[in-house]
Amino acid sequence: MIMLRALAIGICFIAVGTLAYPPMLFAQQSSEPGDINPPLPEPRPTEEPAKAEKPDAASAEASQDVPTENEVDGEDAEPPLPQSRPDDAPESSAQGAEADKASNDEDGTADDDAEKSPAALAPPTKTVPEGMSAAEITRCEKDLKALDVTFEVLDPIAGENGCGVARPYNVTEIDGVKIQPKTQMTCDAALALTRWLRGVVQPSAASFGPDVRLTEITHASTYVCRRRNNLPTGKLSEHAKGQAIDIVRFAFEGHKPLPIRPRAGKGTIEEAFQRTVQAGGCLHFTTVLGPGSDEYHNDHLHFDVIARRSGYRLCQ
Ligand SMILES: [Zn+2]
Repeated sequence: MIMLRALAIGICFIAVGTLAYPPMLFAQQSSEPGDINPPLPEPRPTEEPAKAEKPDAASAEASQDVPTENEVDGEDAEPPLPQSRPDDAPESSAQGAEADKASNDEDGTADDDAEKSPAALAPPTKTVPEGMSAAEITRCEKDLKALDVTFEVLDPIAGENGCGVARPYNVTEIDGVKIQPKTQMTCDAALALTRWLRGVVQPSAASFGPDVRLTEITHASTYVCRRRNNLPTGKLSEHAKGQAIDIVRFAFEGHKPLPIRPRAGKGTIEEAFQRTVQAGGCLHFTTVLGPGSDEYHNDHLHFDVIARRSGYRLCQ
């Protein structure tokens, strides 16, 4: 019995001990990871990023709303800056990059202007390009007169950067057809216009009937100092040399005026006329563009007499 009591008491102690120890053990186990303070720093970084994210979002929104003011705000709010610097830095650098791009663009244009302006400002030179030889002029004017062209020779046009006409012609009438408004074109261009009008347009106009007579050809421009298609860069237009004319309208006696416009598929005599005079332009000019060529030429016929080495003619 004594042994049994001793065993019972011992078991009781053990039971009490085990009841007491487990919490200790758990406490130690839980305290071990807690003692490994590495996790503790973890919450810090999570808190810091959280703080950093807020200024990020704020600064990002602010930067989107008002970039310039954002920079000022950021400088004024210097206390948060230390925290947000690492994040603001990339943003500001990104903004800086964008700003650089913008400035580069501006610089680019500025450079372009700088390239142009020195050339234009240093010597604000307006020069008259070399024109046709005296022999060529004599022959050309003789041809114009023979073809019943009324014209006057204008003063030389001096232009910048290659623009200008040495001997411009104002052609006012060809074979009884008025040319409006005043022209400023070379003799070669005037002669091509004359031959086209007499050889292509007049016979085509006859198709409208015996009582219809072509009375006037209206153009939008001859000499203009500009680049092709009015673009800011690129090759100089033949207009800048007085070598081109943009025809916009034909007027008749006995028939309504015929403006140049897209007429493909209309199946009308007007479409036939416009197609014919556009195509026939290539017999006398070396470049022909009009409706169907591209978006720039839906409302006029561009003719020019550019000289290509191969003799190639661009007709569209
Ligand atoms: Zn043109």
